[in-house]
Parts: sequence; structure tokens; C-alpha cells
Amino acid sequence: MVNPAMLALGTTRSCIRELFEYGLRQAALVGRENVFDFSIDNPSIPAPPEVNEAFVSVIQSTDSLSVHGYTQAPGSWDAREAVAGELTRRFGTTIRGENIFFTCGAAPALISVIRALTVEGTEIIGIAPYFAEYRPFVERNGAKFVTVPADTAAFQIRIDELESRISPDTQAVIVNSPNNPSGVVYTRKTLEALAALLTEKSAEIGHPIYIIADEPYRELVYDGVEVPFIPSIYPNTIICYSYSKSLSMPGERIGYVCVPDQAEDSADLFAAVAGAARALGHVCAPSLQQKVAALCTTSRPDLEAYDRNRNVLYDALVSYGYQCVKPNGAFYMFVKAPGGSAKDFSRKAKALNLLVVPGDDFGCPEYFRISTCVSHEMLLRSLPVFKRMINSSEA
Ligand code: PLP
Repeated sequence: MVNPAMLALGTTRSCIRELFEYGLRQAALVGRENVFDFSIDNPSIPAPPEVNEAFVSVIQSTDSLSVHGYTQAPGSWDAREAVAGELTRRFGTTIRGENIFFTCGAAPALISVIRALTVEGTEIIGIAPYFAEYRPFVERNGAKFVTVPADTAAFQIRIDELESRISPDTQAVIVNSPNNPSGVVYTRKTLEALAALLTEKSAEIGHPIYIIADEPYRELVYDGVEVPFIPSIYPNTIICYSYSKSLSMPGERIGYVCVPDQAEDSADLFAAVAGAARALGHVCAPSLQQKVAALCTTSRPDLEAYDRNRNVLYDALVSYGYQCVKPNGAFYMFVKAPGGSAKDFSRKAKALNLLVVPGDDFGCPEYFRISTCVSHEMLLRSLPVFKRMINSSEA
């Protein structure tokens, strides 16, 4: 007999994967140029050149046993120090190597933190629109996933709605900015209001409510927008970071948890993250990738291609009559479905080989997500289909 919950999780296909695979099948039938796949979020810009150079130089200049060997569970000391040093310099704070725990990307980082914070009855809050995987990450690791409805006017945070969902069992709020799927960056004002609320509520319920800052898109921002460093606004913040999107290397599986000293019970929290990772079978993050991350702490992607897609698509969609908050981060656009149901819109669009993800799993069934990490040519070819879709939806 197998675990029914795991069986359900393993056999329920993700809508994104399903659309992506449908797109591949359709491309074989009708030609790649006639399929407009905005479903998946694999980076479409190459890793900065210094990333590949770092891979080569590490392989060539480090002894083989060290490159391919185990490191300590939290990561090699040099790599942890390098990452901590960069965070300290960049954000005018103090992060030490001891605060960094390397993981195989943001997903296991999040699960380790969620597990570390989960006791009997724990509730963890997600703010719509939220990354669809938060629900299984939370629910399948022993906590209750409580959701806050979206602020559809700006995709910031509805502080009043959040307040009404905090209970004595609330252990954490997951904050994802720049956001997947809205592409919006939470402003300093939003984060300060959030910090004020959580400070007040933590005092009221008698234990800290942590922010789990999920930040794989931290470096992907446009128009010079500020991405505030949340631990400087709210001390009880734990960061889950990933190089998947910022350095275009999602298949390399490297990221980290950072538990700053200022977070309440930080030593126990860090140890519990290590324990949770251990329970999940973590041995160490890939040694080679740790070394590359350490060498590339200041590398940044060239965002010109994402920015061009963002501007061209946004202007076109708005001119056709779509409603959308202009994203200033990540590589997504979250658009109101003209007929009111994103599922219906996505199904009709699919018939025209236009693949967009309905927002149901992101907590917003009236919106659909467009991943703008696609080729510009495909994006341009898709515009008449978007136009046709809104016209036919209105008819
Ligand atoms: N969090 C968010 C908001 C994401 O969009 C993703 C991936 O798309 C992840 C976490 C997981 O990232 P990783 O590939 O580093 O596990």
C-alpha cells in the first residue's frame, strides 16, 4: 500500500506541465512557429558569461576530490562566507557564514524552513497571488495553508485581510517579492505595514510570526525599482534564495536559506532547518555549484530581453483592452481574464495554440499568468491571437 496523499500528489499533473507538454505535441503537429507557449518559466536568457567561466575554472583549478566530494551539510565554509560577505556589503547589515545553509534551490529551502517551524496545529499564511507549490509544500509537511485574498488593484498586500487570518497558531507568512505570478515588487510601504502588523500580532499571541522571504527573483527588476531587504524592515525574517532565475541555472539546483542572527531563536531555528533538511534526505548541496555561487556573488543577468518582452506585451495587451497591473519584476504578467474565468479563457486560448496558465492554483481564478521569459519573435507572433481572444470573449 502506498501513502494516499503522496499518490494523489504524484498523479495530479501540474497544469503548467500539462500545457507545456501539450505545446510540444502541438508543435510537432502544426509547426513550432504556430504555437505560443507562455506556460513554463524556464529562463530564456543565458547565464551571465562569468557563470560558465566559473564552472570551467573550478573544474580546472580545483582538485577533483574537492570538486566532486561531499561538503559539510550547510555547505563549504568558503562558499557560505562568500555569500554572507556579499549580503553584508550589499544591504549594510551583518550576515555571517554561520547564517547560510546551502540547499538544492529555493524549493527545498522553503520546505526545510516550513518543516522547521511546524508543530502541532501550525498555520502558515500565503498571500494571493502565490506560487502554486506553496500549498503542497505547507500541507504535505504538516501545517495548514491559510490564504489571504489578492489586492487586485495593485497586487500588494491587503493588510486588513491578513490581520483577520492571524491566529495563535500562525508561525509564518510567506512573502514572495518580486512575485510569481504577478511580477509585482512589494513596496517598502507595504513591507513596513506588514512588519508593523506582524510585530503587533507576535506580541499579542506571545511568539514570533516569521516572514519566510522567498526570493528567487530578487535580481530581476526593471525601471530601477527598489527590492527592500526584508530583514532590515522586520528582524524575524528568514530568506530562501535561489540562483535558478537570477543566474539562469534552474537545472543546477543551488540556493540557500539565510537565518540572520537578529531573528528570534536564530540558533535553534538554524539547527531546526538543518534537521528538517536532514529528514528530507539532504546531504549537501552540489559542491561544484556552491563554488560557482561563491565566485559569482556579484554576477547579474542582462535583463534587456525580459524588459523588452515586458514592455511590448504589456502595451499590446492594454491596447487590446486587457486589464493588467504592469509588472516591475520577475518575468510574469498576471492578466484579468476577459470573460471572468481564467480556466475558460485558457481552454479557449489553447484551441488557438496560445498557452497561458489559469490563476486558480495561484489563488486568483479570474486571472491568467503569462511567462514572459520567451523568445521575442514568438511573443510578436502571438499578439494577433491575444487580440482575437479578447474580441471573441467580448462577443
Ligand atoms: N519560489 C518561487 C516563487 C518560484 O517561482 C520558484 C520556481 O519557479 C521556486 C520558489 C522554486 O525555485 P527553485 O528552482 O530554486 O527550486
